[in-house]
Amino acid sequence: MIIQLKESISDSQKDSLIAEVNKIGYKTTEVKTQLGDYLIGIGKKDFDIRKIGQMEGIQDIHIVSDEYKLVSKKWKVSPTTIDLGDGVCIKDGDMAIIAGPCSIESEDQIKKVIAHLQESGIRMMRGGVFKPRTSPYAFRGMGIEGLKLWHDLASAAGIKIVTEVMQVSQIEEMYPYTDVYQVGARNTQNFNLLDELGKVDKAVMIKRGISGTIEELLQSAEYVFSGGNEKLILCERGIRTYERASRNTLDLNAVPILKAKSHLPVIVDPSHGIGIREYVPQMALAGVMAGADGIIYETHEVPEKAYSDGQQTLDFAQSARLADWIRKTFEMRKGFELL
Ligand code: PEP
Ligand code: MN
Repeated sequence: MIIQLKESISDSQKDSLIAEVNKIGYKTTEVKTQLGDYLIGIGKKDFDIRKIGQMEGIQDIHIVSDEYKLVSKKWKVSPTTIDLGDGVCIKDGDMAIIAGPCSIESEDQIKKVIAHLQESGIRMMRGGVFKPRTSPYAFRGMGIEGLKLWHDLASAAGIKIVTEVMQVSQIEEMYPYTDVYQVGARNTQNFNLLDELGKVDKAVMIKRGISGTIEELLQSAEYVFSGGNEKLILCERGIRTYERASRNTLDLNAVPILKAKSHLPVIVDPSHGIGIREYVPQMALAGVMAGADGIIYETHEVPEKAYSDGQQTLDFAQSARLADWIRKTFEMRKGFELL
C-alpha cells in the first residue's frame, strides 16, 4: 500500500496512521522525495482501505500489490516527464535521441561529436569518463577532468550530458557537470550507489542488469525513488543469454512490459543490445516500434579508432541517417494503434 501524506499532516496524525497500518499487520516505511511524503505499507493481509483512507492527514491511498511500489503504474497512472531544461525532455509521447561515443577520449573528439549532434538536431550526448571495462588493462576513461572539458563544450552548444557514475564517491564531483547520471548494467544492483543517487536532484538513467530481470530493474528504480529522487529513466540494453552470435540479447519485450508496469520513461540501447554496428539501426527502429520513449546509441568520427566499443559504433553519416529514421519511425508509430 502507498499512502501519500498531506504536507499539513501533524506528528500525532502520522503516529495514529502508522499505528493503524501496523495493526492490520503491515510494516511501514516513511519515504520523503523531492516531490512528496509517503508512507509505504508492506504486507499481505486483506484490509478495508476505506478505514485507513478516512484518517486525517492523507492525500491519497492505493493498494499496490507489486513488489515495487512508487515506480508502479498502479500508483501513478500519468507518465513521468524528465525535464533536463532548455527544452530538452525525455517523456512519453516524444522521442529522445541520445548519441555519442562509448568513451570520452579527447577535446578534439568531443568537439567533432558535438558538431555532428548539432547538425543532426540531437540535444543529448552520451559518453563515459569512468568506464567499467572487463579488462583492467583497457582504457578506463578520462575521469573528472574529461567531464569538465566535455561540460564546457556541451553546455556552450546547448547539449545535455548523459554519463555513467560507477561509485558513490563520484556522485558529488560529477554533479556540476552532469545532466543525467547513468547507472551501468554492472551496477544496476549496487544498492549503495542507488541509495545515494536517491539524494540527488538530477535525473538518473538505470540500465538493465546484465542478467537482470524486468522486475529487478524496477526494484532498482524503486531504490532511487524511495531514496528521494523521482527523476528516473529505465534503459533496456540487452541481457546475457546462451546466444553468442550477438553481444547481448536485446529484450525488446521489456519495452511494452515496462511501459505497462511503470510510469517511468523507457529508453532502448541497441548498441550494447546487439553489439554489431551493421545491425544497430534496425534494432533501434525496432525499439521505437516497441514503444520506447527514446534511443541511446554510440557514434564516433572514426569508429574503428574508438578506444572502446568501436565494433558497435556508428560513424557520423550512419548516425545522421539513423536519427532521421528514428524520427520518421516514431511519426509512423503514432499512427499505429493496433491495440
Ligand atoms: C556504456 O553505455 O558504454 C556501457 C558501459 O553500458 P552498459 O552498462 O549497458 O554495458
Ligand atoms: Mn559502450
